Amino acid sequence: MAGRKFCVGGNWKMNGDQKSIAEIAKTLSDATLDPNTEVVIGAPAIYLMYARNLLPCSIGVAGQNAYKVAKGAFTGEISPAMLKDIGADWVILGHSERRAIFKESDELIAEKAEHALAEGLKVIACIGETLEEREAGNTNDVVARQMCAYAKKIRDWTNVVVAYEPVWAIGTGKTATPDQAQEVHAYLRKWLVENVSQAVSDSLRIQYGGSVTAANAKELAKKPDIDGFLVGGASLKPEFVDIINARQ
Ligand code: PEP
Repeated sequence: MAGRKFCVGGNWKMNGDQKSIAEIAKTLSDATLDPNTEVVIGAPAIYLMYARNLLPCSIGVAGQNAYKVAKGAFTGEISPAMLKDIGADWVILGHSERRAIFKESDELIAEKAEHALAEGLKVIACIGETLEEREAGNTNDVVARQMCAYAKKIRDWTNVVVAYEPVWAIGTGKTATPDQAQEVHAYLRKWLVENVSQAVSDSLRIQYGGSVTAANAKELAKKPDIDGFLVGGASLKPEFVDIINARQ
């Protein structure tokens, strides 16, 4: 939709090595990428600087997680300040794998978002319902609860992109239909009008994530409230170029 720049994120998760990352970076460097699409790659922390050095400058680099304070005795964690220091400008927070496997709460994720934004990072703030929650008719309540936690901590939404990722669609090959995704995105815009502001509802970019491929990206990208994608598996493959160019 006019005014919201299409934004496609690649979430490599815990995949890749130096060889495969160099290959993906070459594919992206050699490709013609839609200049109207903002592209961000979430690389494993240990390869972020390596990926930053190999990827085109036009592509942003994101951490896949960061803790809620700048430094200290938090063994195994990384901070937004560290991400900034090595040239990353984004962080993905609240991914369903962080929520389900690492038991991150809505509150912790929101605190992480607050701190990352204060440190000058841009945030991809993930939300989404499980299959059980959808089948119980609770999708809107779940995403509203997750948004509410973010909204308690986020004052300025300029550097935030929300990624709506139904958990049942992540890594399963079961993409939400364009209508299913649009329905939730439209609900999120309404929620933003009622709980944040009309201006934020109009300007905040909302990505869809969950088994996006080159084959389904074009239809999803036509929906008025879908402003991009967060892509897992397909972001490791050459078809990621077609997903970036889905609006062309
Ligand atoms: C993700 O990891 O955010 C994701 C959407 O994964 P996939 O595209 O593989 O479903």
